[in-house]
Amino acid sequence: MSQPAPLAEPHVMNTYGRVNIALAHGKGLRVWDTQGREYFDALSGIAVNTLGHAHPKLVPALQEQVAQLIHCSNYYHVPGQELVAQKLVQHSGLSNVFFCNSGLEANEAALKLARKLGNDRGYKHPKVVVCEHAFHGRSLATLSATGNPKIHAGFFPLVEGFIRVPFNDIEGLKKAVEGEPEVTAVFFEVIQGEGGIHPARIEYLQQVRALCDERDWLMMLDEVQCGMGRTGKWFAHQWAGIQPDVMALAKGLGSGVPVGAVVAGPKAAGLFQPGNHGTTFGGNPLAMRAALETLRIIEEDQLLANAQRVGEHLLQRLRATLGALDAVVDVRGQGLMIGVELDRPCAALIQQAADAGLLISVTAERVIRLLPALIITEAEADELVQRLLPVVQNFLAQPR
Ligand SMILES: *Cc1c(COP(=O)(O)O)cnc(C)c1O
Repeated sequence: MSQPAPLAEPHVMNTYGRVNIALAHGKGLRVWDTQGREYFDALSGIAVNTLGHAHPKLVPALQEQVAQLIHCSNYYHVPGQELVAQKLVQHSGLSNVFFCNSGLEANEAALKLARKLGNDRGYKHPKVVVCEHAFHGRSLATLSATGNPKIHAGFFPLVEGFIRVPFNDIEGLKKAVEGEPEVTAVFFEVIQGEGGIHPARIEYLQQVRALCDERDWLMMLDEVQCGMGRTGKWFAHQWAGIQPDVMALAKGLGSGVPVGAVVAGPKAAGLFQPGNHGTTFGGNPLAMRAALETLRIIEEDQLLANAQRVGEHLLQRLRATLGALDAVVDVRGQGLMIGVELDRPCAALIQQAADAGLLISVTAERVIRLLPALIITEAEADELVQRLLPVVQNFLAQPR
């Protein structure tokens, strides 16, 4: 097969090593490129296309909204904001929502809440506890909170006020905060996504909750990737039966339309006063319609149960097939957030899978990441495994 010529974009900033295809349209879990080639989408735009592509209930709702009102500024009431906030409050048990446009913005708002709490308490140097291997975004504050030296590189000095601790280690956390009187929050992902699909243990979530209660800190969770039904519950922390004080959402919330949200409970919801925070685009009528319809369709079509059921099936099938290969170190995940860890770096798999008609990602150098849409069927999960297995076998047969 002849390789297509590399796509050139001399006027776009060089920030991504991209797969050499351009996608044109999609339907469900399928997408087609500008050459008409079909792909199975096991990535969903990195956990964004919750409802797959061109969902028959979402498309007419967005068309209607675009024809009515796309944007109007937060100078005015946006009725959709209260409707989406009510749903998020109902599903999370928290109390208030601030809308923004992306994951980093949701995390930035969470970090500002923690700073505001510290300032209100009269702290000179308020601190937030964050974890090794975390990923929280690319703004200066969120990249500083991120636990990956590659993401820090080139952007020093970092924003101060973070204490970094090992993930899933309550004793390590307690030790790191000894002699730190101005801690205001603990902030981490319930399942580390970019870090390689590493779930926080149930026990750890409960221990951090208890510690935050004891010391009057905020428990702040980054559910930008693992939230919005991906694990089979609305929010991944719900598997531990706990509630955070602050939760950041984005990726899957608008099924592809950019929407972020920070959801807060009583300990944090009142910290921002008029003038403390804002955004031009955040919570605009189009974004709110996308989020409202996404939330509605997840309920109506019982996609939480689907994510849990098909996710378990997919994990089992992956363990039975890929898991049997010597080079596969681990197959792990929850619901439709799954990582297959190899014993070697495997970024080359991204292009090789695409060449074979399968869209995946590789994170933390050696972890194949699967994030299919919540509408995936068992038959589609089987197809995913059937397509992935020979791609991985081929890759492993290549000289290192
Ligand atoms: C993707 C991601 C972010 C950043 O979201 P953006 O929308 O890219 O800013 C933050 N946290 C986690 C856990 C993510 O997966």
